[in-house]
Amino acid sequence: MSSLSHGHSTVSRDYDVIIVGAGVLGAALGATLGRQGRRTLVLERDLRVPDRIVGELLQPGGYRALQALGLQECTEDIDAIPCYGYHIQSATKQTVAIQYPVVEPASMAEKKPRYQGRSFHHGRFVDKLRQACHHTPNVTMVEATVNKLLRCPVTQRVIGIQCYSKIATDETAQPSEQDRQYYQYYAPLTIIADGCFSKFRRECGASMPQNVSHFCGFILRDCTLPTPHHGHVLLTPSAPILMYQIGTHETRILVDIPGKLPSIGNGDMKKYLLKHIAPHLPSSVTTSFHKALETERFRVMPNSRLPGHLTQEDGVLVLGDALNMRHPLTGAGMTVALNDVLLLRSLLSPAAIPDLWDDMAMRQCKLALHTGRKSYACVLNVLAHGIYTIFAADPQDPQMKVMQLGCFNYFRLGEQWVDGPVGLLGGIYHSQWLLLGHFYSVAMYGLWLILSGRAASIDARPSFVACLLALPMNLVRCAITLWAASWLLLPAMLAEFLA
Ligand SMILES: Cc1cc2nc3c(=O)[nH]c(=O)nc-3n(C[C@H](O)[C@H](O)[C@H](O)COP(=O)(O)OP(=O)(O)OC[C@H]3O[C@@H](n4cnc5c(N)ncnc54)[C@H](O)[C@@H]3O)c2cc1C
Repeated sequence: MSSLSHGHSTVSRDYDVIIVGAGVLGAALGATLGRQGRRTLVLERDLRVPDRIVGELLQPGGYRALQALGLQECTEDIDAIPCYGYHIQSATKQTVAIQYPVVEPASMAEKKPRYQGRSFHHGRFVDKLRQACHHTPNVTMVEATVNKLLRCPVTQRVIGIQCYSKIATDETAQPSEQDRQYYQYYAPLTIIADGCFSKFRRECGASMPQNVSHFCGFILRDCTLPTPHHGHVLLTPSAPILMYQIGTHETRILVDIPGKLPSIGNGDMKKYLLKHIAPHLPSSVTTSFHKALETERFRVMPNSRLPGHLTQEDGVLVLGDALNMRHPLTGAGMTVALNDVLLLRSLLSPAAIPDLWDDMAMRQCKLALHTGRKSYACVLNVLAHGIYTIFAADPQDPQMKVMQLGCFNYFRLGEQWVDGPVGLLGGIYHSQWLLLGHFYSVAMYGLWLILSGRAASIDARPSFVACLLALPMNLVRCAITLWAASWLLLPAMLAEFLA
C-alpha cells in the first residue's frame, strides 16, 4: 500500500472533502463519499499494513453496516473467521455459550439463519478498506501526516489542512524538520478521523478521553477455543480476559489490567500473566498460552471512555475514536464507526447538501448526525460501560459481585432471555428501553439470589428457615445493590444522552 502515493508536487489543491486518517472510519467514509461523486482527499500518515491489537472483532451490527455500504468484500480473502456469539466463563469456571439472534423475519426453513460477526487481523481488514477507498473514483489517497488545521483569517472557519510527507530515504526513521515537505490542501469540509490519540479533537471542542484500564494483547498459536467461532470472555478475580480467533492459526488474547501496568521490559508483565491469568484459562488454551509467554511480543493499549459530542466549529467534523470511545471489552468501536458512515451517507449526500460551503446546511447535518447516532452509539457505549464494570468487579465489592453472578446466570436462562442482551451487544438492536429492561432484569435476578441465600454461589441450597432469619439483613442488601446498579447505569446513560 505504501506505493499508492507519496505526497504531491503541487502545494495547494481543491477538494470537496478532506479526511484526516485512513483507519476504519476514514477509509470507509472516503470510499462512500467518492462513490457519491465528492472529490475526496484522504490523508494517512502510514499506508503500510497496520500491525495493531485493536479492531479485530466486528459485531453483526457492524458487519450489516459494512454490507449496506457495499464494502463487505473487505472481510473476504483475509482469512476472516465467522463469529456466531459469545462463550462466557464465570470466576468459578462455569461456562455458557450464547448465540446472536435469528435474522428477522425468520425464514420457514428449519435451520433459521442467525446474525454473524467477523473476526480478523485488524491490519488486513484496514488494508482492504484502504484499497477499496483508493480504487474509488473521485478519491485521492496520500501518505502524509496532518499537522495543522487551516482557518480563514477573518472568520476562523476551518478551510483546509497543512500536512507533511517524508522525503528522507530511511523508511523507518522519524523525519527531521529538513526531511519534511509541507503541503496545504483546501476544502469546504475537513473530517477528523485520526483515532484514539487524536491530535485535533481538542481544537475542535471535544473533551479528553478518560482512561479506564489497559489491554495487554498477544497472539496464541494453534489453540482450540472451547466454543469455536465465538468470542470468549473469561471472568477472573483481577479483571476479564477476551479471546477470539483472528485467523486459521491465530487467536487474539486481550488481558484487561486495571491500575498500574506491570513493566514488560523487566519481566513483571510475564510474572503477572503467569500468576493472575494462567490459572483461569481453559485447558485447551494453556499450552499455547505458555508458549506465547516465551515467544510472542506483548502489546499494550489504553482502554478509554469518551462520550460523543456535537462538533460546533464550522468547516470541520470529528468522527470515529477521535469523537467517541467506550471500553473495548464489548468490541463495539468499529460497529459504531461503520454505522456513523452509513448515517452520513444520506446526511452528507449531494442531494441533501449540494454545497458543502453552506454552513447553515452543514450545522443541521451535524445536529442530525449527533441525534441520529445516539440510538446505536449510546446503547453500545452504555452497555460497554455497564458490562465492563460488572465483569471487572472488585472481589471486595459485594454489590457488583452479586450483579456479576446475576448477569452470568441470566445468560444461562435460555434463548428467550438472552436474545435481547446479545442483540444489543451485537449492535443489532438499538433500543435504550430494551437495554434498561434487561439491565434491571439482571439486577432483579441478583436480588433474588440475595433473598434466596445464593449470593455467594448459585449452587448453595440454604434452608427456608435460614432464608427467613436472614431476610431483614438481605432486604437491606437488596436495597444497596439496587442503588449500586442504578448508580452504575443511570449516570452513564444520562451522560451519553445529554452529551
Ligand atoms: C485494545 C483495543 C481493542 C479493540 N478491539 C475492538 C474490537 O475487537 N472490535 C471493535 O469493533 N472495536 C475495537 N476497538 C475499537 C476500534 O479499534 C476503534 O473504534 C476503531 O479502530 C476506530 O476507528 P478510527 O478510524 O476512528 O481510528 P483508527 O482505526 O485508529 O484510525 C486512525 C487513523 O488515523 C491515522 N492518523 C492519526 N493521526 C494522523 C495524522 N496526524 N495525519 C494523518 N493520519 C493520521 C492513523 O495512522 C490511523 O490509520 C478496540 C480498541 C482498543 C483500544
